[in-house]
Amino acid sequence: MDFTGKVVFVTGSSRGIGAGLVRAFAARGGICVVNYVDDAAGRNHRDAEAVASEVGGAMTVECDVADHARVGEAMRAIVEQLGGIDILVNNAGILRDRSLKRMAPADFEDVVRVNLGGAFNTLQHATTLLRPGGRIINIASVAAFTGFFGQANYAASKAGLVALTKVAAREFARQGTTVNCVAPGFIDTEIIKDMPADVTEKFVEQIPCGRLGQVDDVTNAVLFLAFRESGYITGHVLHVNGGFYM
Ligand code: NAP
Repeated sequence: MDFTGKVVFVTGSSRGIGAGLVRAFAARGGICVVNYVDDAAGRNHRDAEAVASEVGGAMTVECDVADHARVGEAMRAIVEQLGGIDILVNNAGILRDRSLKRMAPADFEDVVRVNLGGAFNTLQHATTLLRPGGRIINIASVAAFTGFFGQANYAASKAGLVALTKVAAREFARQGTTVNCVAPGFIDTEIIKDMPADVTEKFVEQIPCGRLGQVDDVTNAVLFLAFRESGYITGHVLHVNGGFYM
């Protein structure tokens, strides 16, 4: 797969799956933009710069995807600096797990604001900024389909993202742009490191492929949907979960 000359904007790409996506697109000729959010210790900025230099000096943009105006500024800066945007991957996501009984309303709102609102923000700006014939891939989750205990906020946000994908697929089709979801299962990144080992083991026992997913398992699915020849696939959810949910 060749993405030479394609400008690829991956949200939340300072680490994990997002950083893997930047490496995967860049290795195939893509001109990548690394996105991060500032933190007090400056760790995210350093991580983003490290990912950017690893792929030969990619552009980095600081921007909280939940901030509609900042997302617009960031996307316009990409267009000014790199000439346009061809591929958008809505990857930024957070977890704030708690049972319904204990979940603070702010934890519900924060997760929905980042995971679902963030994708709305980039999609809305993409309506005018994405070049025709583009590709949009939203990173949902198996949680949208199974609804795990303690994930009222996360599962709802990801289920909303699936619905948003279908609406966007219809609305972007006239520009020749496809909009799809990749729904990962349990992928070995920082986001699941807080899960107790026995819980992780129990999940692995239920995965027919017999292992956690790796970042490459997800990036390969995204590359496929972003590929020029995948232009007749839109509004689809591609499950990447080793058979855990089918
Ligand atoms: P991760 O290692 O925690 O990475 C999440 C990324 O999102 C980080 O780069 C983080 O950036 C960024 N981010 C968080 N809030 C943001 C915001 N408001 N604006 C911009 N960026 C923000 O998690 P991951 O496992 O790679 O997850 C990537 C995506 O896959 C998420 O949407 C997640 O829900 C989804 N997913 C993961 C799994 C899994 O098992 N790992 C399964 C299903 C779905 P900073 O470092 O700058 O904060």
